[in-house]
Amino acid sequence: MGKCNCFDETLEAMKAHIIEKLPEGVVDFEASWEGHSFILSDRDHVPVNPQINYTYRKIKKDKTPAANLSKGQVKVFCSYCPFCGREIGEDSK
Ligand SMILES: [Zn+2]
Repeated sequence: MGKCNCFDETLEAMKAHIIEKLPEGVVDFEASWEGHSFILSDRDHVPVNPQINYTYRKIKKDKTPAANLSKGQVKVFCSYCPFCGREIGEDSK
């Protein structure tokens, strides 16, 4: 099984579905996946992966907590396509 285009195909299908529900004559319609990432490598991947957001408070030099929260995020790469179930990267094994 080669790479799939499930995310592109699903987006196109959903666009058609959304457009039907919009008022007639709207302009500049755009739709995109939340969290769509362009990964600059040939490594097999799906374009949208779950993301974990985290926050924490740094401790200042005087040992008291900082006023502002620090934020970070990390993406967890899918092992399988959530639409067709193919295993990601199986061609490269
Ligand atoms: Zn797929």
